[in-house]
Amino acid sequence: MADLGLPSAEAGYALKHLKSWMKPQRVSTPLSSQPATSKRYPDPLGVVCIIAPWNYPVQLVLQVLTGALAAGNTAALKPSEVSSATSAALADAIPDYFDSDAVAVVEGGVPETTTLLEQRFDHIFYTGNGTVGRIVMAAAAKNLTPVTLELGGKSPVIVDRDVDLDVAARRIVWGKFMNAGQTCIAPDYVLAHRSVEGELIDAMRSTIEDFYGSDPADSADYARIIDERHFDRLTGLIEKEDDANVVVGGDSDRSTRYIAPTIVRDVDADSALMAAEIFGPVLPILTVDDTHEAIEFVNERDKPLALYIFSKDNDRVEQVLRQTSSGGVCVNATVMHVSSANLPFGGVGESGMGAYHGKASFDTFTHYKSVMNRPTMIDPSMMYPPYTKTKQKIVRKLLK
Ligand code: NAD
Repeated sequence: MADLGLPSAEAGYALKHLKSWMKPQRVSTPLSSQPATSKRYPDPLGVVCIIAPWNYPVQLVLQVLTGALAAGNTAALKPSEVSSATSAALADAIPDYFDSDAVAVVEGGVPETTTLLEQRFDHIFYTGNGTVGRIVMAAAAKNLTPVTLELGGKSPVIVDRDVDLDVAARRIVWGKFMNAGQTCIAPDYVLAHRSVEGELIDAMRSTIEDFYGSDPADSADYARIIDERHFDRLTGLIEKEDDANVVVGGDSDRSTRYIAPTIVRDVDADSALMAAEIFGPVLPILTVDDTHEAIEFVNERDKPLALYIFSKDNDRVEQVLRQTSSGGVCVNATVMHVSSANLPFGGVGESGMGAYHGKASFDTFTHYKSVMNRPTMIDPSMMYPPYTKTKQKIVRKLLK
């Protein structure tokens, strides 16, 4: 659904709409430039470089490639070396479907990507963490190459007191524990209204059992952690918390890189769990007394890639929408906004710059060339010197 379904849907959408996207767009011409026609011609940027991470190792290469190709570019693809099997599979499969001078796969880690970034590209599209995002942007600056940075961050979930708790629990658990929390827009932490915190935890506990059974280690629907480095990082975060606060899960097995769906309550805002994006199956719950406090908490931190609000109260939802900034939002849902071709997907501030999906992907990889075309049959002298008093009067009127 996530790794293959989304890029496949994106390709179908692009095929369906490409003809109309490619057409020059007619726009109006101001009176002062008449007679003339004005159009915006979509031009490909040229050669684009697509650098992807490991967590959705097919989607984050091919969905981006769809936009680049639709807009008429050629592309160099750099899948993540961390998901090495998928990287090798893409390197093997791509030449079967594309000419090598249209799409090329470059495999490798830091040295290879560093060399790749020394080349001159017309656009660099990077998905991954903000530290490397800065390296990519610095390399791009040397050639004045524009960048799209799809980064991550701590995406909060605000749970209001006025809420359908069962639905909220299902949708939070689904978004959080899909791919064992290794999703850029996974709910990172919950800000629950104090009056519903206990019931929410109970509902999430039983949802986890409904989804993954009494032992999630046996579930075919529950993923593993990508590597030992991330396994150690995540289990280290759990160990730092008071055992009594680990109210769901907490157990793990390094030999299979399994970490149970884990919920931690009474988490301190200064704890290690709250210091950086978790990117794993650990969900901290913090409590707030009202919407204002939740908004302040979010605004004191970096702008997140996604924000989720669960509430039946439209005024409070609107308050959150108007008073916070994030890449995207779901109201009474998590993650789903990523699947709409009509909602450009991207971050803001620390969570990234630029957006893609659907038409936004085409636009990201397009330069809209502004073209004014003036017929020569009539050539009003208004714009030409000498600028007599009468001409000045007319021009001033026309420019109003
Ligand atoms: P990663 O380690 O696979 O790195 C991503 C890419 O950067 C890889 O291709 C890697 O080779 C390259 N890279 C690593 N170090 C480099 C360096 N020093 N110089 C040049 N290139 C280098 O993946 P990651 O960064 O761990 O990915 C996880 C992060 O990505 C999380 O923060 C997550 O939120 C974010 N993410 C964002 C999105 C989104 O769409 N916004 C999607 C998925 C993941």
